[in-house]
Amino acid sequence: MGAEAEHRKLTAKETLFVFYYCGDAKQSAAEAARLAGYGQKGARTEGPKILSKPAVQAAVAAIIGKRLEKQDISGRRVLAEIAGSAFADANDLAEVRVGCCRFCWGTDHKYQWTEAEFAKELAQNVGVQAPGGTGFDRRREPHPECPECFGEGEARVVLKDSAKASSDAKKAYAGAEVTEKGIRVRIHDKLKANEMLGRHFKLFKDNIQVTFPDLPPEMRRKRILELLTMAAKQKAERTGGSKRAG
Ligand SMILES: [Zn+2]
Repeated sequence: MGAEAEHRKLTAKETLFVFYYCGDAKQSAAEAARLAGYGQKGARTEGPKILSKPAVQAAVAAIIGKRLEKQDISGRRVLAEIAGSAFADANDLAEVRVGCCRFCWGTDHKYQWTEAEFAKELAQNVGVQAPGGTGFDRRREPHPECPECFGEGEARVVLKDSAKASSDAKKAYAGAEVTEKGIRVRIHDKLKANEMLGRHFKLFKDNIQVTFPDLPPEMRRKRILELLTMAAKQKAERTGGSKRAG
């Protein structure tokens, strides 16, 4: 390859120069020359001369080119991570579900047991009664005329298997811990991810002419949310995008 053929033409000192020029010297020819041992005095004049040599130029271009390529790849990966957090559906990780209460479906709206609960109770307490009967299933809909919950049922949090979560949800997932109160699932800040994306794609400047005056943080969050909703709508209109049912 051309570039590699050029590399081979470098002297040991020039190789050092390239090494420092692309590294510690932060692309200062004089500093690179000094570090490569050209002498304090000569470095200032020698540096630019060495840098102008085609072989040196080729070596520097090859290194910087590779570095930019790497940055581009990592940049795209970072963006994909942020986008995942921004678009993830939190329900893929934890869901609030409402089901019936203990009194919804019991006989005459009396307390209802599950079969196993009642069997256990009966083993410990012979002759125990179950006026509401058994067959409690918290997944059933609340009874609209329940005298205890008045048809509102009971809410519970159902955690999902994070290994089976969608790719976006996996990006939003920030780990979990077992606490005294149960399992705590952490999710990256969706609004912040949206704001970062919005800034990256210049949504605020290009599509909607808005500036943020010095709004208090809460107002600002609200305003950003409004803007993102608008931007998303505009984008959906442009692309005729399909919306997720939900
Ligand atoms: Zn109820």
